[in-house]
Amino acid sequence: SWYNDFIGRLVQCRACPRLVSYRESVKPLPRFMNDDYWRRPVPPWGDLGNARIMIVGLAPAAHGGNRTGRMFTGDSSAQFLFRALYEAGLSSKPYSISRNDGVTIKCVYITSVVKCAPPNNRPNNEEIHTCVSNWFRYELEHVRPRAIVALGHIAFLGIKLALGIKAEFKHGGYIDFNGVRIFMSYHPSPRNTNTGRLRIEDLVMILRMAMEYAGC
Ligand code: SF4
Repeated sequence: SWYNDFIGRLVQCRACPRLVSYRESVKPLPRFMNDDYWRRPVPPWGDLGNARIMIVGLAPAAHGGNRTGRMFTGDSSAQFLFRALYEAGLSSKPYSISRNDGVTIKCVYITSVVKCAPPNNRPNNEEIHTCVSNWFRYELEHVRPRAIVALGHIAFLGIKLALGIKAEFKHGGYIDFNGVRIFMSYHPSPRNTNTGRLRIEDLVMILRMAMEYAGC
């Protein structure tokens, strides 16, 4: 399928020198000392036969996806997202902790606009443009989702770049483009979830709206 070929090429990408250097050199956290960090572009994953909803994050975290080798796996953003996916009936488990944790997701495909962990979770504009045009646009064209859930401003920016559209980010809002509905939510990072800016029930509600629109 397109996916295996895509991942095979993706994991070899070294187009952004700053991110390549960071992903390869970041020091393991003491609690992950025995883990063999992934340190490459982090593969997206999902229900490939029926990916009606594309969930789009910003980039893998240094000790999340960059450690575990699977997008939205092994950090607190993943924990929050998977509690919401489980509650909405889209995930078999309320967590995502490793590539072989046995979690299955249905109707969704989980990815990010930037595939390598950036320092301070902040890719620069050039890196966003490079990763969108090298990988994310291709992914969008092949997944062909009916609905997209943009997690945060930068995810939404990447989607706009890929599709060539202009719109303002608005948490809880959506825009329609060529029959695809793009929903917007704050990113489930601790900065938003610990402060109550994004609550589980908010994200579950957005997921349910996407499910209804996409026919999940
Ligand atoms: Fe390649 Fe994207 Fe990683 Fe840049 S961020 S090195 S374009 S995979």
